[in-house]
Amino acid sequence: MSTYGIDLGTTYSCVARLDANGNPEVVRNNEDNSNTLASVVFFENENNVVVGQAAKENIETDGDRVVQFVKREIGKATNRTYTFDGKTYTPVEISALILARLKNIVESQGGTIDNVVITVPAYFGLEERSATKQAGELAGLNVLSLINEPTAAALSYCARQFQEDRTILVYDLGGGTFDVTVVKMSMTPNDQGGDVQKIAVLATGGDDRLGGKDWDDKLFNYILQACCDENGLTADDIEVETRQDIRSKVEEAKRKLSQKEVTKVRIDVNGSRTEVVITRKDFERLTADKVAQTMNFVDSTLAKVPDVQIDTVLLVGGSTYMPMIKKAVEEKFPGKVQQHDPDQAVAKGAAIYASMLGLAIEGDAGGGADAQADGAPTEDKRAELAAKFSVEDQTPRSFGPGVIDTKGTKNKYILENFIKIGEKMPAVATKTYYPIEDNQERVRLRAFENMSTEDALIPSVDEDGNPQATDPAHAVKLLGELIVNLPPNTPKTTKIEVTFKVDASGVHVEAVNTATGDKFETFLRTASDVDIEKSAVHQLRISSD
Ligand code: ADP
Ligand code: MG
Repeated sequence: MSTYGIDLGTTYSCVARLDANGNPEVVRNNEDNSNTLASVVFFENENNVVVGQAAKENIETDGDRVVQFVKREIGKATNRTYTFDGKTYTPVEISALILARLKNIVESQGGTIDNVVITVPAYFGLEERSATKQAGELAGLNVLSLINEPTAAALSYCARQFQEDRTILVYDLGGGTFDVTVVKMSMTPNDQGGDVQKIAVLATGGDDRLGGKDWDDKLFNYILQACCDENGLTADDIEVETRQDIRSKVEEAKRKLSQKEVTKVRIDVNGSRTEVVITRKDFERLTADKVAQTMNFVDSTLAKVPDVQIDTVLLVGGSTYMPMIKKAVEEKFPGKVQQHDPDQAVAKGAAIYASMLGLAIEGDAGGGADAQADGAPTEDKRAELAAKFSVEDQTPRSFGPGVIDTKGTKNKYILENFIKIGEKMPAVATKTYYPIEDNQERVRLRAFENMSTEDALIPSVDEDGNPQATDPAHAVKLLGELIVNLPPNTPKTTKIEVTFKVDASGVHVEAVNTATGDKFETFLRTASDVDIEKSAVHQLRISSD
């Protein structure tokens, strides 16, 4: 069995596995001479789709045939699509192309990749998670599970450097997103009298619109201004080709400034060659507000866990290669900052997790004869890993059903939160409800996610069960519904037990008619299958009286 971990990033993706000794290693992208793959897709013509650096190089010249930052669209209600040569692609399909390219990278080096764990941001809701899983399946991969990115980073840190109990702050500044996560690592005894290193998430925060791209944009404007000054032009005078030329050189210049104090870029300004010199000092002055912004998120995340002492800060994400980041974080956490493989740590952690899960599957199947087929670790090594770690994530949202409260004078539609944001995963909760009336034929049980920590929300959905825009702070989202058919002559006192289960891969909803033992778990997704009915007769109510 070959298990791999995949970091499907907004700007760069990465695939990793465990070597024969059980150590995580990245599968190199030889074509781009890199450890990562640019998450960029270029639709050259109807027969040729290019993924990676070569696609990225077409952004300036053929931008309308290039898709990037698709992770920002996956699983979103906007239902954005992309059409090329008469064919329309969803964000899931674009993501599948990136995943298929990663699969191809592994296969071209003789590996077989079937079982994978894909990473997602800790703040991803259910739709984004199931869309990510779907993309994996579409790419021909068997998705064992998803894991939150900061948890994966912590796992790879933990595996590399065995530690005593400690609390870690993961500072992940990528290309388009910034995530802060506080993770606790502790030694807990297992059933066999050994020790398990437990990784538990205590708090998360960040901004899904803050990342390396903002540094690129600042540098772009700086170079554009320098080109104007040098040639006595205004920004309006600058031709589109010149802008494209600047854009294509910005990221490389930024990377060079992580190595050197000064770099030069040569730009063709409306036909005349101009050399712009950029010093690291200037670049740091230019982007100081962005660094400060990330540190504000660090503060607000720490404020969620006021009693926690941070022992180590882990720098993750390609943008933490910028010396200004390390400096700022060092200043706040002197002597506590660690940085190892910032652009690979997430994929490596996912590879470790995949291997742990893969072992469980092999156990079920009665063995994994081909465990070493392509240099994968032996079963013993994997068993060692699985016994060594346990991962405990937090729920990214609150979850629960919409039900009718028949108490008082008016029937109120209430969204009850069974599982609340920040709870330990896997989280399971069950509650008993009743049909609205005698002889009710069926129940349409609606499931919601939201950002509220209240037990119940009233104003966030209308009487038809549709989420209301009036309460954006709670981000209420209808996930879909479960149809519960009731046999004839069902009295309204019949107990219907509703259960929600949440783990990193998604939500499972089920309902049991306790009178008959009938179990219902076929969940209809919102967008495609659910036809919301107005009638309250198909609901469940809270109390039996
Ligand atoms: P993602 O957000 O896709 O997970 P990564 O963690 O791989 O992405 O980070 C990508 C970002 O890191 C990009 O903005 C890239 O320009 C930036 N980056 C990568 N290497 C360097 C470097 N040496 N110096 C500065 N920025 C870098
Ligand atoms: Mg990332």
